[in-house]
Amino acid sequence: MNSGLREHSRTGLNADTLQRAIIDHLRYSIGRPASVLTPAHYYRALALATRDRMQQRWIASMQTYLDLSRKVAVYLSAEFLMGPQLGNNLLNLQIEQQARDALSALGQDLDEVLACEEEPGLGNGGLGRLAACYMDSLATLDRPAIGYGIRYEYGIFDQEIRDGWQVEKTDNWLDNGNPWEIAKPDLNFIVGWGGHTEQYLDEHGNFRARWVPRRFLKGIPYDTPIQGYGVNTCNTLTLWSARAVQSFELDAFNAGDYYKAVEDEVSSETVTKVLYPNDEPEAGKRLRLLQQHFFVSCSLQRVLHILEDVAERPVNELAEQFSLQLNDTHPSIGVAELMRLLVDERALGWDEAWEITVAAFGYTNHTLLPEALETWPLGLFAESLPRHLEIIYEINRRFLDEVRSRFPGDEARVRRMSLIGEDGGKSVRMAHLATVGSHAINGVAALHSELLKESVLKDFFELWPERFSNKTNGVTPRRFLALANPGLRELLDDAIGEGWITDLNRLRELEPFAEDSSFRMQWREVKRLNKARLAEYVLVTTGVDLDPNWMFDIQVKRIHEYKRQHLNVLHIVTLYNRLKQNPDLRIAPRAFIFGGKAAPGYFMAKRIIKLINAVGEAVNNDPHVSQFIKVAFLPNFNVKSAHLIYPAADLSEQISTAGKEASGTGNMKFMLNGALTIGTLDGANVEMREEAGAENFFLFGLTVDEVQRLVHEGYRPEDFVELNDELRAVLDLIASGHFSDGDPSVFAPIVDSLRSHDPFLVLADYSSYIECQQRVSEAWHDATAWTRMSILNTARSGKFSSDRAIAEYCDEIWGVRPVTVQA
Ligand SMILES: *Cc1c(COP(=O)(O)O)cnc(C)c1O
Repeated sequence: MNSGLREHSRTGLNADTLQRAIIDHLRYSIGRPASVLTPAHYYRALALATRDRMQQRWIASMQTYLDLSRKVAVYLSAEFLMGPQLGNNLLNLQIEQQARDALSALGQDLDEVLACEEEPGLGNGGLGRLAACYMDSLATLDRPAIGYGIRYEYGIFDQEIRDGWQVEKTDNWLDNGNPWEIAKPDLNFIVGWGGHTEQYLDEHGNFRARWVPRRFLKGIPYDTPIQGYGVNTCNTLTLWSARAVQSFELDAFNAGDYYKAVEDEVSSETVTKVLYPNDEPEAGKRLRLLQQHFFVSCSLQRVLHILEDVAERPVNELAEQFSLQLNDTHPSIGVAELMRLLVDERALGWDEAWEITVAAFGYTNHTLLPEALETWPLGLFAESLPRHLEIIYEINRRFLDEVRSRFPGDEARVRRMSLIGEDGGKSVRMAHLATVGSHAINGVAALHSELLKESVLKDFFELWPERFSNKTNGVTPRRFLALANPGLRELLDDAIGEGWITDLNRLRELEPFAEDSSFRMQWREVKRLNKARLAEYVLVTTGVDLDPNWMFDIQVKRIHEYKRQHLNVLHIVTLYNRLKQNPDLRIAPRAFIFGGKAAPGYFMAKRIIKLINAVGEAVNNDPHVSQFIKVAFLPNFNVKSAHLIYPAADLSEQISTAGKEASGTGNMKFMLNGALTIGTLDGANVEMREEAGAENFFLFGLTVDEVQRLVHEGYRPEDFVELNDELRAVLDLIASGHFSDGDPSVFAPIVDSLRSHDPFLVLADYSSYIECQQRVSEAWHDATAWTRMSILNTARSGKFSSDRAIAEYCDEIWGVRPVTVQA
């Protein structure tokens, strides 16, 4: 302790102060006698002590955005897949060692305590995780920012595997409380739903509209601190939770219908109960629209409250003070809601309100898959948000006038661009609403942004080319390298210093070390230990015993046909057949590791999980085959298990059909951790290969142009089966029931789909993939060359930091500058 002064137990960063703080929280927040304390109690006490240490900076940072001395980024996202918080907060506060020492003095182990944390799974996959990485980078780069989202009581379901099938369990992440959030019930906002609209004459004799909702909800904000790495900036993530509005039910209460009032309370709270899986084929759920409207309305009301009531600025300064980013179309109802708040509730003229709205909003598109573009049936929309629909019609009327004046006589174009879709029953096209309501529209990788301009948003690009740009995704090196891969972190720090953690391009300084044999040995040793750590986890969770000396070939991501986990399986079955047919065959030993959740209603994805497990069963239990290959399906892939997985990969599978994966971010996490990639020219793979050098990337498969040509000419998967006997044998073996106890019906849907239409061109890419995997195996035999490539992949991954991505958003779209927060 310096100068004999005793540090304050809520703010001090020394180990002994932290120890005192933990003891304090054990007594005053946990309130149990020492004899019954478990690591989970120590987790909670350390989490609270850690939050205390962010509090001063958090309040100081909040004050800077309440003052609006600088512009604030507002990130609107229906998902934030934050992952466990304690380890990350200790890292960003730079007090990991102190926490370890403090716990150790209390007889506890930090890693055991960290493992007690239940992660908030408030997202499906990449999109939600991107929002979390961006929050980390915004704080680390000292940019004032608020994230707004939904406090789902049940996040993404927990996945169990039973008899090879996925079983969903509810995610009760709040059961033991959440030490990171602070509820602020006094900052609540009221949100309407349903009802009708009315016209009236205001005091100036102007026609005006108002919305008379049928019911109301109250939104309670729960704030979580987002501490930047090594800085004072501590931004806020605000998640909204729905409650009943008591006063509106007083009638029922007075009439003695107490139970009716309580019932309404229960039904109001269901609004933020559960996160919807994003790949469900069946869409159009009313509750989902209500969730979107609820969180966006609360967020916009909160932003206007800060602007007008706290900072006392006029509402026409909204776009100078805030930049509102739509993470996909989920929050795009915000365009109509902001217009309503400005025109109906603040009596601004339409033109002025529209100018403010377009200047404030930006829109990030995340998908080109037509089935994933959000639309709402008109009837449902009209019943739910009648005033918003009127506003959307008015936006559309004015917008289509603009289109007609730019492209006279082109009514086909007008129909294509309308905010209202006419095909198969009328619907509201949310991507069009988001695009028309935003001054900046971006895709998430160079290829994706180009394809956007040629496909789903082509007409809009022709109208407003200056609004379009690319912002290639990134991932945070704090969580996905420093925290998840402590072995590599230490090796990097020793080799090139610690600067990489906030300036990832510094990893380039590693390049010369690729030629240093003793460094390569250390590199391999780090990887081997990471693989041993994962192997232990795989053994405990699946019973499959993996050898850390084998190649770890990993595909973890949501299970989806476009991501083509089944192509990976076809390769495994190919090797299985070869080993069975030729007992003398010697191949590079590989562990195939899978993980990922399937949307509960996605029939084919769930069957692909069963197929992986069934093939795994056959492979792992075959005494000969299992000397060369093994297969493991890790249940419940989430951020917590991701920490163990990405650092342990030798080979990263990024094998989506070209043109289907917008960017990917898992691909970047693997590269950062020294995996080599086998991949198609899709999403950010294209840029990763450019950075790594073509010689350090295993490329296969059709290009976007080739895919388009093949589909255009009429793709017939059977043509590819006819050309390739090995492929036919693989499909026949799966179809025969060999992997399903002789029951051919289990995998018939997969094989039939592949042989009849194969929407994602699995069979067309099969031979190229198999041939490429052969090159991978050959490369594996040369450990020196492999390690050199591994080092170069990490060294050249700097571009894929979310710090680079967020700096681009701030500088090129939002105009959000760094602000140094004084502690
Ligand atoms: C990064 C990440 C994803 C996204 O992976 P992709 O391979 O880009 O689809 C999904 N889930 C989790 C838990 C992640 O960490």
